[in-house]
Amino acid sequence: MAESHSQSPTPCDNHQNHEQVGGFDWMVLVAAILCAFVCALGLNTMLQCAFQCVGRVLTEPMQWIASRRLNSGIKKKEMVALPTSTYSHSGSPSSASSCVICLTEFTNGEQIRFLPKCNHHFHVLCIDKWLLSHSSCPTCRHLTQV
Ligand SMILES: [Zn+2]
Ligand SMILES: [Zn+2]
Repeated sequence: MAESHSQSPTPCDNHQNHEQVGGFDWMVLVAAILCAFVCALGLNTMLQCAFQCVGRVLTEPMQWIASRRLNSGIKKKEMVALPTSTYSHSGSPSSASSCVICLTEFTNGEQIRFLPKCNHHFHVLCIDKWLLSHSSCPTCRHLTQV
């Protein structure tokens, strides 16, 4: 009997302890939620910053590539479509009579190619080679593409 009497407070104490522990856990839980919330906010800000940084890193080279592609030569089909003619000295005496790419004067009967946008003309071979790596007129930098 004495044992049962002495034992009875012990579960009671345990019960109180459990309540205290439970209350402490609740506080920890609230603190953890607050901490998680603050962390989430911080993480969100970090992620937004990271996305902006990544976006900038991704879009800048794309813009650079796009701008480079704009002046990185024209297609063979477009090149062939450019008008050619046979140079004759008497045809246009006022216009430039030398090719600015090879700096050689045109001679009668040479095949020359016109750039329709600016009407500058060059040796067919010279301008074809130039247009493989550029898409602008070597004289006035006018883009040959539409
Ligand atoms: Zn030339
Ligand atoms: Zn030109």
